[in-house]
Amino acid sequence: EQRNPNAPEFQQAVMEVARCIWPELEAHPRYHSFRVLERLTEPDRTISFRVCWEDDNGEVRVNRGYRVQLSNALGPYKGGLRFHPSVNESVLKFLAFEQTFKNALTGLPMGSGKGGADFDPHGKSDREIMRFCQAYMLELHRHLGADVDIPAGDINVGPKEIGYLKGAFQRIKNNTGSVLTGKPPSSGGSELRLEATGYGLVLFVVNMLERIDDHLQDKKVVISGAGNVALHAADKVRTLGGKVVALSDSHGTLTCEAGFTADDLDAIHELKSGRHSLESFMNNDQAKWHKNEQPWSVPCDIALPCATQNELDESSANKLLDNGCWLVAEGANMPCTDKAQRLFQDKGILYAPGKASNAGGVAISGLEITQNRMGMSYQRDHLEQRLEEIMRRIHQQCVEFGQEHEHIDYVKGANIAGFKRVAETLVSFGIT
Ligand code: NDP
Repeated sequence: EQRNPNAPEFQQAVMEVARCIWPELEAHPRYHSFRVLERLTEPDRTISFRVCWEDDNGEVRVNRGYRVQLSNALGPYKGGLRFHPSVNESVLKFLAFEQTFKNALTGLPMGSGKGGADFDPHGKSDREIMRFCQAYMLELHRHLGADVDIPAGDINVGPKEIGYLKGAFQRIKNNTGSVLTGKPPSSGGSELRLEATGYGLVLFVVNMLERIDDHLQDKKVVISGAGNVALHAADKVRTLGGKVVALSDSHGTLTCEAGFTADDLDAIHELKSGRHSLESFMNNDQAKWHKNEQPWSVPCDIALPCATQNELDESSANKLLDNGCWLVAEGANMPCTDKAQRLFQDKGILYAPGKASNAGGVAISGLEITQNRMGMSYQRDHLEQRLEEIMRRIHQQCVEFGQEHEHIDYVKGANIAGFKRVAETLVSFGIT
């Protein structure tokens, strides 16, 4: 806390990991003597810079951009870029810290990082977003490289923004190297990358259910968010026979007791790709709009928080439990507050932390790097199979390291399994 004052999200993420891995540190004195946890809580470097751009009225605007390069022990720094007014150093440090364990769990050669800017794309024209991306890359390009740092997208950064960023990088550097993932397919992007986080999340849930001889068929599922992760998770839930009974965005919650149809979900994808609110959804007259409400009071079996950090607090967790929810799996990064997480664990419901359950996106990003390096592209069915295998392997690691008598502590399992891989590598590097 003394080293990181005013960084509540970062402290929250570190405390959760420290609690879980403490016995590992005690059991392996070399982790302790090599100060592995201290090294992982001090990023290799944090870059912060001015982003100066011009809006459509010719006004000069100034934002703050960042890149946190946390650890390259396992490979090039890897983690998304987020454009949102809430972006600050604490948020990006917590995201980069979480990314370390997530990337380790995938088994692929990826270090960890996170970046972005306090830029709000809502209400901005396409040209303004393009100019912002170009201005942001004017500084970021110095810190990227195919063996150095390879960012991807995150909140408000999808294939369109990644396309603008890549275009700017190539103009500045005269270099077409693979320095971004989540690219549009025409410029070296991978099939399935867009869907991978949401699909991977649901595949992880399927593994959790299979372990207790259950399945997704007819389960009621509440999902927060209506972005990339949320909507692809919704598609997968529906395909596997579950019922998506709620989705939300920053303006409120849309419910449908009978479950959204494929046609409804297509209409919602269309709506959100134009950055419209769910409020204007008209496809199904059974759907109800709840202005400024979160989705956590909707009765369900399964909740998938897929919007943003700390969106589900203790009182929301109580509402979910009161309404019969018995499985929570995180699509977003750290969407449950510390108290909400502990409540789920105390009540013994199935609970999966994002660093395990949302790792599908970065896993396919890892395979995008492989494809770019080899100068070829994998077919979609091959990638679907790889995603299934990777999510199954992550689930197995959680089970192996999270065994607690009769039940599985997925938080402990994910933290220990991820930590051990990075810790062994750091120790092998000596004091660096
Ligand atoms: P998007 O920008 O595509 O979607 C974010 C969604 O969350 C939007 O519907 C947005 O509402 C809503 N939202 C954002 N902030 C808030 C808030 N404060 N309160 C309520 N709703 C909010 O982002 P992604 O789907 O890509 O990311 C969502 C989460 O998943 C993030 O935590 C991200 O870090 C994590 N994640 C993403 C990965 C990816 O591959 N994209 C990979 C792993 C994790 P509105 O539509 O009104 O803007």
